[in-house]
Amino acid sequence: MSNIAVVGSGLVGRLLALLLIQQNKTVVSNVSLFEKNALLTPESTGLIAAAMVSPVAESVTASEHITVMGQRSLALWPKLLSCLAIKQAWWQLGTIVVAHRQDMSNLTHFQQRLKSNNEADSAEMNADDLIALEPELAQQFNQGLFLPSEGHVDNQALYRQSAQQIQESDINLFEHTATRIIDNTIHLPSGEKQVFDWVIDCRGLGASQQLIDPKATLRGVRGEVVRVRAPQVKLLHPIRVMHPRYPLYIVPKGNNEYVIGATEIESDSEQAISVRSVLELLSAAYSVHSGFAEAEVLAMQTGLRPTLLDNEPSITVLNKSIQINGLYRHGYLLTPYILEQVLQLLRSFDSFCADQWQVYSEISSEFSIDDVVTDSGFDHKLITVFNGGNEYAHNDQ
Ligand SMILES: Cc1cc2nc3c(=O)[nH]c(=O)nc-3n(C[C@H](O)[C@H](O)[C@H](O)COP(=O)(O)OP(=O)(O)OC[C@H]3O[C@@H](n4cnc5c(N)ncnc54)[C@H](O)[C@@H]3O)c2cc1C
Repeated sequence: MSNIAVVGSGLVGRLLALLLIQQNKTVVSNVSLFEKNALLTPESTGLIAAAMVSPVAESVTASEHITVMGQRSLALWPKLLSCLAIKQAWWQLGTIVVAHRQDMSNLTHFQQRLKSNNEADSAEMNADDLIALEPELAQQFNQGLFLPSEGHVDNQALYRQSAQQIQESDINLFEHTATRIIDNTIHLPSGEKQVFDWVIDCRGLGASQQLIDPKATLRGVRGEVVRVRAPQVKLLHPIRVMHPRYPLYIVPKGNNEYVIGATEIESDSEQAISVRSVLELLSAAYSVHSGFAEAEVLAMQTGLRPTLLDNEPSITVLNKSIQINGLYRHGYLLTPYILEQVLQLLRSFDSFCADQWQVYSEISSEFSIDDVVTDSGFDHKLITVFNGGNEYAHNDQ
């Protein structure tokens, strides 16, 4: 019977806490969730994000491993949301990729670099296809690429509903509580210490001075987005627009709202969005659809993506502490898979009641990732278990 602490109620932490409190009491007796801000802080990275789940488009720049994990997450999102009873937070209509005439070579290059071997993952679109699928795009573009399997999350709905569920659940919630972690002990700002059977560190960038892997370094990669309400625009699909400097997208969020993003800047700066970025993002949106000229700007936001040296995610384990980090620009792309792996891991450590653990994905598993997952169910490229006590650097503050 485990008493578990989850630290950080961002994207990963909040969903993990909810999955843990659903476990049978014979395996998880108590769940505590510590968050340095409030559960619903508008500045949360996961709330600022466009929340696209795009394994095919991301495969152009991401590794094959991320592509495979992302494909699995794509299948897992609806199961995860239904298991957590989170409603109306998932769209899966596919992504449209377009380029203006002067950037056509970028679209060809993008298409050539897609890593998917599955022909059904992408299809060329001509003017008629565009008219059929997204008629308002056909005014500006006469060809493009369709990635039919891709989806996106309504992150406002996800955060709102998960916050409410956490508040109504048996989870012991500690908001406005910035903690330090040393093995399985939580150090509170008051000086008090709390010991748990397991501590799961989901602090994102907040863990940068306390990484389990002594060789790892964590940095922030800044992203900027503009959120608008544009009643004159009726786009249904996330649109990716080829841009010489970074991948630009326009993601419909319902209620005539669109997220236009996102810059990708190697910087930890939390300064407000720059004029240059606003100009680039908004003029790109206007070049896709002139209806954006009359849009109401709802928010201009910046966020820092927690990123490890190789831009890959990692789960590290030392003694009774598990650290999940490095989700970079792939938090939504990978979270269902990461949660599946963490639950498998906890189950494997529970020698007495392993069969009592519920891993939500087991409802049905129609997707094989045999090349990275070992017989025990672990992804050996994702999970590192450290033995011995010296690797853990607890030099925070
Ligand atoms: C502009 C932008 C666009 C994005 N678009 C996408 C996208 O389309 N698709 C996609 O897959 N990903 C996207 N992402 C990335 C995604 O948002 C992140 O990968 C994800 O939010 C990381 O989740 P996390 O739970 O690891 O960290 P976070 O969401 O950052 O959560 C960490 C939490 O820990 C808390 N915390 C920190 N320190 C402490 C402490 N000492 N004690 C207690 N709590 C602490 C923080 O307050 C925070 O709530 C985007 C990111 C940005 C910035």
